[in-house]
Amino acid sequence: MLDEKLQPIFADVLRRNPGEEEFHQAVREVLDSLGAVIAKHPHYAENALIERICEPERQIIFRVPWVDDHGKVHINRGFRVQFNSALGPYKGGLRFHPTVYLGTIKFLGFEQTFKNALTGMPIGGGKGGSDFDPKGRSDAEIMRFCQSFMTELYRHLGEYTDVPAGDIGVGGREIGYMFGQYKRITNRYESGVLTGKGLAWGGSQVRTEATGYGATYFVERMLQTRKQGFDGKKVIVSGAGNVAIYTIEKVTELGGRVIACSDSSGYVVDEAGIDLALLKEIKEQRRGRIADYAKARGNAAKFVPEGRIWDVPAEVAMPSATQNELNGQDARTLVKNGLIAIGEGANMPSTPEAVQTFLKAGVLFAPGKAANAGGVATSALEMQQNASRDSWTFEATEERLATIMHNIHDRCAEMADTYGSPGNYVLGANVAGFIRVAEAMRALGIV
Ligand code: NDP
Repeated sequence: MLDEKLQPIFADVLRRNPGEEEFHQAVREVLDSLGAVIAKHPHYAENALIERICEPERQIIFRVPWVDDHGKVHINRGFRVQFNSALGPYKGGLRFHPTVYLGTIKFLGFEQTFKNALTGMPIGGGKGGSDFDPKGRSDAEIMRFCQSFMTELYRHLGEYTDVPAGDIGVGGREIGYMFGQYKRITNRYESGVLTGKGLAWGGSQVRTEATGYGATYFVERMLQTRKQGFDGKKVIVSGAGNVAIYTIEKVTELGGRVIACSDSSGYVVDEAGIDLALLKEIKEQRRGRIADYAKARGNAAKFVPEGRIWDVPAEVAMPSATQNELNGQDARTLVKNGLIAIGEGANMPSTPEAVQTFLKAGVLFAPGKAANAGGVATSALEMQQNASRDSWTFEATEERLATIMHNIHDRCAEMADTYGSPGNYVLGANVAGFIRVAEAMRALGIV
């Protein structure tokens, strides 16, 4: 039940943002955690601070025209939502996926604001993207699209203003094309304007791996609170993109056995443990489908088209594909099959019903805004290296990432204790993120 002081705020969010269901869901989840905070510290509800946190500072929507390889002109829609800059320049990824609309970007930008606050680093929250579908497009088409997208977006960016990175459908290749266009238009080699760059031209070690590695560190720390680790545990990881691949890599390194992963066409089960070299070859080089993995493994793996990966029994689950990919029924199945812990690599992958199911069952639950913060934290480390024209070793950078993830875990656990819900990392993450943003907003006045 939402605190009565927060009810009119949420009603206003629904009224002002019609039809944006994911955004409503993300706001509701945070507001659900704030009742205890404003009861203890009423000043956080003064000067419409919470209303301001729910309203993006700026929302940009633009046309992205581009020409395909056959000379046909296409029009997509580009977005950048600059949500909150109380803690630093807007920071958050760009998503290219046909389902993207303003509500997607707003939910992601809202989540990003608290996630970035949780890292303890000086970065505000933003998110962007397009309804462009990169699947099946040639390299040249991807390049032309990225160039057209950046031709409008560049005027809203800057290393002290807004610093995008990748997300679904945007990896090193796309960041390269966008950086090239930004450099050309502005005539500035402004490395700090985008993160997720290639190692040869301003990128940081560990950025590619950071979200998956970070989520794994977070879950490891959670398991330690019950005197357990990944060693010998069966793990399932949804998705087969950037976050999923590096989650599989780190879980395997820590002794876990990842037996299933997926893409939007279905999932594969490989009881011996996913062959990561093969998966990387198919997904990172060939840009193929997950069925190709099962084909290449012969009888050792099976492909289940259109199925629910959550039907595969496991002790740890790491949803790493997309929002609302795990529903209440999936959660009940996982709990029945003996799930101990869940770490959200993706943003908001569990529906509210699924989250409640996990919390009620006493499953260790790491919400995305805490568990997947390693990506943006390492992006902030990339910005630090760019600002000082330095580059750090893989080992030093990974150590920073591990420390950041452990600190986020401990801060969430501490806040959950303080606000009367020990072990509830959802509440802990929302409260810890909120307090940091709110303190800065109070200091900066009504802006
Ligand atoms: P990628 O594009 O690299 O991979 C996405 C994976 O998820 C693909 O396997 C894709 O399958 C699958 N997927 C995407 N959309 C859907 C859908 N609607 N239904 C089913 N499967 C889907 O993206 P990332 O790995 O970068 O991102 C995954 C998640 O992690 C997202 O929620 C993102 O916001 C979040 N995240 C990413 C960070 C990063 O650093 N990259 C940082 C923090 C969070 P297919 O190829 O078939 O579409």
